Amino acid sequence: MPLEAFERFAATVASGGDVEVAVRLEPDDLGRARVTGSCGLRAEIVCSLCGCEVEVPVECALDFRLVASEAQAQTLMPDLETVVATEERVSVVALVEDDLLLNLPEAGCDDRDECENWAEERPDVASREPERTSPFAVLGNWKPQERDN
Ligand SMILES: [Zn+2]
Repeated sequence: MPLEAFERFAATVASGGDVEVAVRLEPDDLGRARVTGSCGLRAEIVCSLCGCEVEVPVECALDFRLVASEAQAQTLMPDLETVVATEERVSVVALVEDDLLLNLPEAGCDDRDECENWAEERPDVASREPERTSPFAVLGNWKPQERDN
C-alpha cells in the first residue's frame, strides 16, 4: 500500500517506501474476530539526535481483536489488544496505522558512529540526555569529608 494512504504516519516520517501489510482475520476460540499478521516498511525519519535523515525499518506484529465498541474493548483489555471498529467496513489503514506509529523509532541513530552529522550539528547532545546517565553519576559530587558524622 502506498505510504500516502497512511495520512498520520506519512506526516510523521520524512519519506518512506510502500507499506507491506499482511493481515488475517479469523475467529478466535471464543468466536471473536481476531486479526493477526504483520506490517512494515522502510522509512526515512529525521533523527532526533542529529537532525539528519536516516532510513529505519518499521516492523509491527499484529495480534488484536476487532470489537464493536469502546465498552467491549474495556472488557478484553489489558489481556488482549483491541481495535474498535464502529463501522461495518474497516479500512486496513485504521487497523494498522496506530501500530506503525508506535513502532516508529524516535532517534534514527543509536550512537554517534552511525551518524555522520552528530559532531557537527549537535555537539552537546550527550550531556542533554539524562536517561543515558548512570544513576550513580551523582555520587561523583559526593564528598565524604563534608559529612557531620
Ligand atoms: Zn543521527
